[in-house]
Amino acid sequence: MAGLFIDVEVADEVRGDAELAKRLEDACPVDIYAAKDGGVEVVDANLDECILCELCVQAAPPGGVVVKKLYDGTALER
Ligand code: SF4
Repeated sequence: MAGLFIDVEVADEVRGDAELAKRLEDACPVDIYAAKDGGVEVVDANLDECILCELCVQAAPPGGVVVKKLYDGTALER
C-alpha cells in the first residue's frame, strides 16, 4: 500500500537482488527498505517519512527505484 504522500516502485530485478536490497536498506535514512529473504521489502508504514534525499534512486541501477510524490504527481528517478 502507498503512503499518503509517497509511494515507491521497485523494479522486479531489484526486488529479488539480495545485494541491492542490502544497499537500499543501508542507504535510506528513514528505513523505507528492508532486506529480507534475499530481496527487498518496502516498509509501507515508513513511506511518508521519506525526505526525498534520492539516495535510494542513486543506489539502484537506472530505472530500478522510483520515488513517487503523490501530492504533486512528480517522481525521483533516473
Ligand atoms: S528518497 Fe531518501 S528517504 Fe526517500 S525512500 Fe529514497 S533513500 Fe529513503
